[in-house]
Amino acid sequence: MSIRFQVSFFCQNCGSKFRRHRWGTGKHKKYVWQCINRQLNGVESCSTKPVKEKELEQAFLRAMNKVIGLKEAFMKTLIQNINKRINNVEQEYSMEQIDSRLTELQQELMSLVRLNAKTGLDTRVVDKEYSTLAAEIELMAAVFVFKTGVDVREIL
Ligand SMILES: [Zn+2]
Repeated sequence: MSIRFQVSFFCQNCGSKFRRHRWGTGKHKKYVWQCINRQLNGVESCSTKPVKEKELEQAFLRAMNKVIGLKEAFMKTLIQNINKRINNVEQEYSMEQIDSRLTELQQELMSLVRLNAKTGLDTRVVDKEYSTLAAEIELMAAVFVFKTGVDVREIL
């Protein structure tokens, strides 16, 4: 595998970028990654030693596996929560209520988009508002699909 084109590594000690170097030639050729600060300004400026590419790759793979594991756990919780909320909403609202709430949310979303286009509001505020609305629309749409078997995105 080749990691050198996809990621940048930063020195934990001084924050500089790492750069890839070739050591040796022919059969003895190997690659190491070195802190640029240390390389340019000497050993006194940074104490981080060069790292063999093989070791870096292994550390990178370990970190990736950890991230993937966390993501899977997160997705599982998310799906459980959505299922739970779908059940709640389904019991709380009638089909008509869900339908009219969806229309309402849709209009809110549209006016938010229009307002933003007109005034150029603080994007952080709009983004937050937008994702709150979008999340409720998603939930309502999911219940709608669940109850009717109609994909609401085809209607909206
Ligand atoms: Zn460094």
